[in-house]
Amino acid sequence: MTKIGIRYTKPRKLVFEALAHYSKPVSVAEINYYLKNKIDLSSIYRTLELMKKSNIAEETEFGDGKKRYELISEKGHHHHLICENCGDIEDIKMKEDELLNKVKTKSKFAIKKHKLEFFGLCPNCQ
Ligand SMILES: [Zn+2]
Ligand SMILES: [Zn+2]
Repeated sequence: MTKIGIRYTKPRKLVFEALAHYSKPVSVAEINYYLKNKIDLSSIYRTLELMKKSNIAEETEFGDGKKRYELISEKGHHHHLICENCGDIEDIKMKEDELLNKVKTKSKFAIKKHKLEFFGLCPNCQ
């Protein structure tokens, strides 16, 4: 392996590890916290951009201005439930053919992807 190869593979491995550890959408701060300064912040940002481009990770925003990242994994297509009190995030899989068909008939948009987020209180915060 070339030197360049190692340089670019190590951050990718670490960031992948961090995302796999959390197994939910996490911010750069959380990734950084998990990695305990093993790589610098700019490497984390750069690696996330690369992972986004190569469809390894996905970026989401829950309206709080913070970008979060998650592995596009074997979990498959799913949506999120976000606790407005503690920030806990849960995955939810649903049958959504009916909803998607409705959108298709009501709009002339060629839809490529979609995101759905649900906000409320988790069981612990109710
Ligand atoms: Zn969906
Ligand atoms: Zn909560």
